[in-house]
Amino acid sequence: MSTKTGSLSINSENIFPIIKKWLYSDHDIFYRELVSNGCDAITKLKKLDIMGEYSIPEDTEFKIEVRVNQEKKTITITDNGIGMTADEVNEYINQIAFSGAAAFLEQYKDKTNEDQIIGHFGLGFYSAFMVADRVTIDTLSYKEGSAPVHWECDGGTDYEMSEGSKTDIGTQIILYLNEDSYEFSNEYRAREVLTKYCSFMPVDIFLINENAKPEEEDTEEELTDTASEDAKDSEDTTKKEKKKPVPINDKNPLWNKHPNECSDEEYKDFYRKVFHDYKEPLFWIHLNMDYPFNLKGILYFPKLNNEYDTLEGTINLYNNQVFIADNIKEVIPEFLLLLKGVIDCPDLPLNVSRSALQNDGFVKKISDYITKKVADKLSGMFKTDKENYEKYWDDINPFIKFGCLKDEKFAEKMKESIIFKDLSGKYLTLSECLEENKERHENTVFYVTNEIEQSQYINMFKEENLNAVILNHNIDAPFITHLEQKNEGVKFVRIDADLSSVFKEEVSEDELKDISEKLTELFKKELNNDKLEIKVDKLKNEHISSMITVNEESRRMQDMMKAYGMTGMDPSMFGPTGETLILNANNSLVKYLIDNPESDKADILCNQLYDLALISSRQLAPEQMTKFIARSNEIMQLMIHE
Ligand code: ADP
Ligand code: MG
Repeated sequence: MSTKTGSLSINSENIFPIIKKWLYSDHDIFYRELVSNGCDAITKLKKLDIMGEYSIPEDTEFKIEVRVNQEKKTITITDNGIGMTADEVNEYINQIAFSGAAAFLEQYKDKTNEDQIIGHFGLGFYSAFMVADRVTIDTLSYKEGSAPVHWECDGGTDYEMSEGSKTDIGTQIILYLNEDSYEFSNEYRAREVLTKYCSFMPVDIFLINENAKPEEEDTEEELTDTASEDAKDSEDTTKKEKKKPVPINDKNPLWNKHPNECSDEEYKDFYRKVFHDYKEPLFWIHLNMDYPFNLKGILYFPKLNNEYDTLEGTINLYNNQVFIADNIKEVIPEFLLLLKGVIDCPDLPLNVSRSALQNDGFVKKISDYITKKVADKLSGMFKTDKENYEKYWDDINPFIKFGCLKDEKFAEKMKESIIFKDLSGKYLTLSECLEENKERHENTVFYVTNEIEQSQYINMFKEENLNAVILNHNIDAPFITHLEQKNEGVKFVRIDADLSSVFKEEVSEDELKDISEKLTELFKKELNNDKLEIKVDKLKNEHISSMITVNEESRRMQDMMKAYGMTGMDPSMFGPTGETLILNANNSLVKYLIDNPESDKADILCNQLYDLALISSRQLAPEQMTKFIARSNEIMQLMIHE
């Protein structure tokens, strides 16, 4: 073959500046592209063998070698796959337009897509020019009688093609790195990038540092399954133990195995390896389908450290074992991004832009399918494995609730499987909750948001054999609203919201009217607070002197303001603060005040009763606390001087 030169046929004046500029943020993907091309080449050869069009020699070990040389600033990627004839190089490499480059150029026109990086899919071989000034290909096709081909291009639009000297079938690509990209010839950097993109590619991939001195090389390579001490002795081997290099990848990722064939240990191992999380996952869902589309994957429910742990997951997306990206919102429903997992979907149309993915009906179907599978697994567990479901509930409930808020279909599927922990630690469904208080409070679920602050109310509830549920996560406030919307008539009421009739004696409206007016006037004066809401009741428990109740609506409004960070605003603009001071007309201290409003002790008594009521409902402000302590000391002084 005589040397051939020519111009790369591309639609644009010069694609290389575009490639370099465009892909600045993701330079490292050239590794993925070149290694996956090598994988493809090997897969093709295996297919030809199966179809009887080629016969693979017996001792063939298919592999891809990535050799880095930091001194020469080169990367050499070698595969023993199908190789290319001169015609093929011409067709597949010289006419770039063949692969994804045309689509890439098309997209480049639309500058608004600038950061929608996934659009670069299919750029393939030419991504080498993002990092290299000069690239050479040496290849020998499997086809009988083919001549080896040498190709090179220095990053302009001109290439040179001539007969090469390669003697074994396959392809070798050498990148002569440009100044900005020397890092990629560093062994550790190379390992990092290869681990990110190639960890599960289907052919053994070896990373070799050409600069490593022999002994150094040894330390890099792990021992093969070495014989135990005993075996060594008995075998009496004089041979030096062979050290076998270890591929950087796992050719058979767990998600490809049938769920029935995977052990718990394998799932946990895989989780540790991929997510570097030393905590064990709670459980997992293995997705495995090939109709109507191909999708495999494993989704793990991670264990939360504590209730403040932020939910933050990672879902790695693969296309035929080639890593694409993590957390692609278009494919994975948003609430599932709180999990950790892997999804491999060879059918994904990945050479389109992200915005196109968003509007793709097929992608939506995939996303719906994943949601459905997760809901099926969870609701199935609720039905058939309630014990574990309850055990995991505290960890998984924020996730499920978030899912219900985000996804109508998920909410619908999960609605019978939402449970609530009650005051005794038992788990109840919504209808069971409603059953609990049915006789005295129809359609009402009482709840606790803070077991310590609300302990006084919890005690009163227990005394009256009333039940309440614990809803102490941030997600619960919006989730309660969601439940109320979905279940007409059902009302969630915080345990301190309303001194329900069970705690009070039935009294006629007029009976307390007089003393109510009297006490209101007295307290407003002594507390020097005109806005204070005061109500007098006869509580069954005479030991309780005073309490605070908090109006459910106003409190929710204020919580919402806090949640949205509107703390600078005056809460009263959304109505009264919602706090009411309840005075128990059955209590002797309150009775004393009714009878002796002019007493010189009224000041101390009113203030102390108010502070005590506040303390049993929430934390006092610092200056309030200081006053409370001073006053308490004063009261004890009065006692000993009596
Ligand atoms: P794609 O892989 O999407 O087809 P590429 O630009 O990566 O696009 O590669 C273009 C074509 O060049 C491939 O389809 C293949 O035919 C050929 N090719 C690239 N690398 C190799 C290789 N290592 N061995 C054999 N053929 C290759
Ligand atoms: Mg490719």
